Amino acid sequence: MDTRKVVVIGAGTMGNGIAHVFAQYGFSVTLNDINDQFITKGLATVKSNLDRQVKKGTISQSHADATLSRVQSSTDLSQSVAEADFVVEAATENKTIKIDIFRTLDASAPPHAILASNTSSISITEIGAATKRADKVIGMHFMNPVPVMKLVEVIRGYSTSDETYTKVRSLAETLQKTAVEVNDFPGFVSNRVLLPMINEAIYCVMEGVATPESIDTVMKLGMAHPMGPLTLADFIGLDVCLSIMNVLYDGLGDSKYRPCPLLKKMVAAGHLGRKTGKGFFDYQKK
Ligand code: NAD
Repeated sequence: MDTRKVVVIGAGTMGNGIAHVFAQYGFSVTLNDINDQFITKGLATVKSNLDRQVKKGTISQSHADATLSRVQSSTDLSQSVAEADFVVEAATENKTIKIDIFRTLDASAPPHAILASNTSSISITEIGAATKRADKVIGMHFMNPVPVMKLVEVIRGYSTSDETYTKVRSLAETLQKTAVEVNDFPGFVSNRVLLPMINEAIYCVMEGVATPESIDTVMKLGMAHPMGPLTLADFIGLDVCLSIMNVLYDGLGDSKYRPCPLLKKMVAAGHLGRKTGKGFFDYQKK
């Protein structure tokens, strides 16, 4: 069956970007969140990102208008997925919330609908097991900012079928993204490789190996990274970094994934990076 109607759950950072790209490539999209305030904010972000694309000349004004006209919104989860062909869940990173959402999706979406999650760290296998269609549950891990970043990790849960995988891979390609096949293990590939590097950079700060500025300079100029690991940690949020390290540590049971004590201390102090104005660098005066 053709995928026409897409529902995106969660209108936050990732959800509004995912709705944006699906609508941009011609899908009819419903953006769902728990209240109108989040939806209004999400739709405003889609509009301002489309305006930016028009200003840069990457799309025309009529393309932007048509894209926006394809995005509907709803705060009623069951109703919004009743005719969905494809659902991408991008709600808050919390297992209880996601399992609850997937139970509702399973009960309310048509039997043919594929249910994808954009989770960064929660097991796709576990989410799938909460439904009666684990073969149609899959991870579709977009990167932030979604309209710009080319990668989508497509994560196969233990019971995800080949048919579901093939369909999601081809959907990602329709969105002009590069899909990479990944099996369901803690952190998938992106966070399994990225976060230990960030954690090690934090150990370097804690042990006085070098200053945060110097560590970032080494990685930018020495390794051609576009952004240093500590600037990136501040951008991701130190609380998010800590929670992903805990997922790796608990899920893989190897001491090499232990979160750095300085990371724990900074999170306890409320220095979470950009969002609180202070992390490894100070954003208050900017
Ligand atoms: P966010 O906090 O910006 O947005 C989450 C949204 O989900 C909020 O608007 C919230 O109101 C909504 N929500 C919560 N419970 C809901 C429910 N029951 N039904 C509908 N909506 C609900 O979070 P985010 O950064 O967009 O992250 C969303 C997902 O994407 C998470 O699973 C996260 O791990 C993943 N992710 C995030 C990034 C990133 O860089 N932010 C990158 C890749 C993946």
